[in-house]
Amino acid sequence: MVGVGVAGRLMGWARETTSEIETVKGRIPAEALGVTLPHEHVLVDFVGADRVSPNRYTVDAVVASARPHLEQARGLGVRTIVECTPAYLARDPRVLVRLAEETGLHLVTNTGLYGVRQNRFLPPYAFTESARDLAARWIREAREGIDSTGVRPGFIKSGVDLDPELSPVHRKLVEAAALTHADTGLTIAVHTGRGPGLEQLDLLAAHGVAPEAWIWVHAQGADDGALLTAARRGAWISLDGLNRPSIPRHLHLCQLFRREGLLHRVLLSHDAGWYDPDKPNGGTFRPYDLMFTVFLPALRANGFTVSEIEQLVVSNPAQALAVRRRPV
Ligand SMILES: [Zn+2]
Repeated sequence: MVGVGVAGRLMGWARETTSEIETVKGRIPAEALGVTLPHEHVLVDFVGADRVSPNRYTVDAVVASARPHLEQARGLGVRTIVECTPAYLARDPRVLVRLAEETGLHLVTNTGLYGVRQNRFLPPYAFTESARDLAARWIREAREGIDSTGVRPGFIKSGVDLDPELSPVHRKLVEAAALTHADTGLTIAVHTGRGPGLEQLDLLAAHGVAPEAWIWVHAQGADDGALLTAARRGAWISLDGLNRPSIPRHLHLCQLFRREGLLHRVLLSHDAGWYDPDKPNGGTFRPYDLMFTVFLPALRANGFTVSEIEQLVVSNPAQALAVRRRPV
């Protein structure tokens, strides 16, 4: 049995290395991803779906604000940044293409809808259409590109509230994500925090989608036990809110997952950035540097090997983002 398990894992890895990632500039081999920050932002507008508009900022202003921070990240060894701003919160492929061209970084954007904060970032059609209708929209973006930009999404981004159970609308969003994954192979990242993560895994399974296709976003806010259960089932655990006050929590979780033999399910990022159109000059941009200046050295000082760190910041994101159907 052990031999079969090892062989299965090796075969799985062989498949992974031939996988591809969908960046805003097109597909690249997963092994070209390099050091990756799997959850960051360049631009976010929390004004709400009823008022959000590209007229609230200029591409030039956002690029000028974000570019030095992307260049700093590149100087620290980063090759890929996954931009997690969903539609109706100022997801803007034009900004990301400009920044990819000007910095040489691989940037990744998303399709999907975000239900967090009692649905204030959902457009009216999210309430009237079925999961299948919503999935058809997201699949169309995956095939034809976002709006008229030709830029294809590299993953599905959604978000649910913290209530112990999914609301009917949030349940529909997760079902639409499952249908989209089954068609496109795009990975599903859901803003969940201490919300109902395991319920989402059950819902995905009911639609034939394996936990390996799902990322528990903002997992650092959840209970350790629920995270371990999700990781043992195969889910990705995104410890993405890295900042100075969070370092003890992030370190604890990395050590816990390492002890439990689950480091291969963990993703690390800052959830930093971003240009905010509601603030003068976009407000204060939080840099993408703490991982490299403080946190990874702290992991080393706590006994993590170079290859474990490489797994956390290179191999795991490449496997998580590979465009590949993951049936149950
Ligand atoms: Zn975020």
